Amino acid sequence: MATYRCAVCNMGVNATCADCNEPLVNDTLTKPDGTSVQISRCPKCEGKIKSPMCCGQDMAYSA
Ligand SMILES: [Zn+2]
Ligand SMILES: [Zn+2]
Repeated sequence: MATYRCAVCNMGVNATCADCNEPLVNDTLTKPDGTSVQISRCPKCEGKIKSPMCCGQDMAYSA
């Protein structure tokens, strides 16, 4: 199960695609301005969401 965990408060979030019932994989997207964003991608339908944030920062991914 793919889990995102907050380094500050230690809250954990399980990330799955509701359509495919598939754990999301962590990925990064480089924006045109050169900054990168942490995203969660579904390996089946290729859907992407912004990875969860907690306490004002990206949560750390662990597969
Ligand atoms: Zn937190
Ligand atoms: Zn999916």
